[in-house]
Amino acid sequence: MRPPSRLLVAEDDPELADMLTTLLSDEGYAVESVGDGQRALHLGLSRDYDAIVLDRGLPAIDGLDVLSRLRRRGRFTPVLILSARGTPRDRVEGLDAGAEDYLTKPFDVEEFLARLRALLRRHEERAERLDVPGGTLLLGSREVEPTDGTPISLSEREHALLSQLARFPRRVFSREELLSYVFAGAEDVGVVDTYVHYLRRKLGKGVVGTVRGVGYRLGNR
Ligand code: CA
Repeated sequence: MRPPSRLLVAEDDPELADMLTTLLSDEGYAVESVGDGQRALHLGLSRDYDAIVLDRGLPAIDGLDVLSRLRRRGRFTPVLILSARGTPRDRVEGLDAGAEDYLTKPFDVEEFLARLRALLRRHEERAERLDVPGGTLLLGSREVEPTDGTPISLSEREHALLSQLARFPRRVFSREELLSYVFAGAEDVGVVDTYVHYLRRKLGKGVVGTVRGVGYRLGNR
């Protein structure tokens, strides 16, 4: 028999956290539970989970912030966000921050379990690689494996930027969006241009396309 999938549940509402832990344990998952964003981030960085169920409104560090910090530090554990905020814009924010799925509270338990199963299935199939122009981005080792030639290592920020673009290969991101998702919004948007330049220098001009007056996207099409 396969070992059970390991889940981290980050939820600060004690009743809901208890309910989720019981439900998921009964379903055969190995569950750990935390009630704030600081501990969620710490465990998400230091332990291996098959998925994280992440409440958006968490004390200490907000759920979306936990998520983008995990992604920036090269952790691509799939995340299902639970949130009371369910407008299309809220959902887009969650998905763009790197969540695989987004479920609005209150939710149907059967739907929650089905989405979690789907997310775990997709994750197994994807096995931590993304297509990029001219090769494959290996998320675990932060390398690009060219179609021919030896792997090219990326820095943490180069990797974070390229993986954000590669996860949404048809989407054009504004520089401000990339600044906020990849660089925590703390610096000048010029940092985005700088890292696009680094990526092009390492991987060839065609790896990131400029969409004039809008922003950047994966590849030149
Ligand atoms: Ca909450």
